[in-house]
Amino acid sequence: MSQIEKNPLAFFHEEPISDRDYTMAEAVAEAKRCLNCRVPQCRNSCPIENEIPQFIHELAQGNFGAAAEYIYHRSDFPALCGRICPRETQCEGACVLGKKGKHIEIGKLERFVADLVLDNHILDDVPSKKCNGTVAIVGSGPAGMAAAQDLARMDYDVTIFESSTQPGGTLTYGIPTFRLHKEYVLREVERMEQLGVTIRYETKVGRDISLDKLAEDFDAVFIAVGTMEGWKLGVENDHLSGVIDAAQFLYQVEQVQLGEEQLSRLPVKPGDTVLVVGAGNVAIDAARTALRLKAKVKIVYRRGEKNMKCLPSEYMEAKEEGIQFQFYSAPRAVVGTDHVEGLRIEKQKILDDGTMVPTGEFEIVPADKIIAAIGNRPEMDIIQAFGAEATEDGYIESRNIPYGMTSRRGIFAAGDVVHKPKTVVLAMREGKRTAAGIDEYIRAKHMMEEVNKG
Ligand code: SF4
Repeated sequence: MSQIEKNPLAFFHEEPISDRDYTMAEAVAEAKRCLNCRVPQCRNSCPIENEIPQFIHELAQGNFGAAAEYIYHRSDFPALCGRICPRETQCEGACVLGKKGKHIEIGKLERFVADLVLDNHILDDVPSKKCNGTVAIVGSGPAGMAAAQDLARMDYDVTIFESSTQPGGTLTYGIPTFRLHKEYVLREVERMEQLGVTIRYETKVGRDISLDKLAEDFDAVFIAVGTMEGWKLGVENDHLSGVIDAAQFLYQVEQVQLGEEQLSRLPVKPGDTVLVVGAGNVAIDAARTALRLKAKVKIVYRRGEKNMKCLPSEYMEAKEEGIQFQFYSAPRAVVGTDHVEGLRIEKQKILDDGTMVPTGEFEIVPADKIIAAIGNRPEMDIIQAFGAEATEDGYIESRNIPYGMTSRRGIFAAGDVVHKPKTVVLAMREGKRTAAGIDEYIRAKHMMEEVNKG
């Protein structure tokens, strides 16, 4: 019996944490398989060049503290990255043992060590002395949280302004709970608060407080908002009732789980036929969530199976759960008068040189709801409120010196709102780099103030 059949609401918060994979002995045994390669392909394929062989080597010797120090050296959230990083296209995909048989389970080992640290309060930080200056961070997603931690460790007084009721940004509202239990996110937030970081919830910058006010009150401001506005399908009738944005849908589902929204108000109802347009991880997440709401779900994609942007494992899991796929089908129009009745698609074919061409053959795929999952972008009203230079699509432009500063002095930006939606680990890396840029800027600013005083 599948997990969904056992518990259709398996994505709700009450579900106990169930992804603790290893006992201590099993973790050590797995770590002992590692060859501790001299040129470690696993590390070379990690976007933050995590010291993977080193932490695994320490773990194999039973040196848990040393393993933890290696893991936390470059990553603030190994308990999260060990669960949601696209490992099969990164470290695990590159592990030499994978070519001969079975790669090292790097993600499982990473989260084993991180869970050990968090469960037992190993490596607990001392609270920030808050003596080096003040920083406002707009948004508590992975970029904002990573920067907040680093800045607090550098003894800055950090305040995060979060528009929602919960912290975590995309970690909380974008990744369904069946993939990442929110308890793991809250543990990271707790760790950040222990460092002395303050979070002001339900405070939207641009609505409840202006960016100018933050710039006046703080030494530096870091814009780390996500990209919550989905691209429209861009076909006839895409405004019809029943066309849903994937990111908004996932956000609303999380609100239901938090008790802030009623289940009956979700746009997907039991028995609905739902088409999801797109083939990235958000499309798969939206499809699997709709399935858990007891809808019949099909993913429609204009290209083929091998062109899908989602992880192969996500695709396999979605198929196993019962989601159907229709490839080589480009959306041409939403069918219906007041409400969605279907999606008109045009079949595509691939030429020998790999070019995709329309066939002129059309079909109407019946649907009660259509979820658009073809990408996200920043909310334009927020970007306009910030007043920093941005691209036509709304992505804020930033510079390298000091790292992350926008066209407005003292206002920094990074993460999805600059680099387009990427992975959590990249958002974290950019948050850390921007924290270093902010530190450089505030030190220079204070030095100039001293010079001018004298
Ligand atoms: Fe160990 Fe595989 Fe990395 Fe080599 S590539 S160090 S075997 S995890």
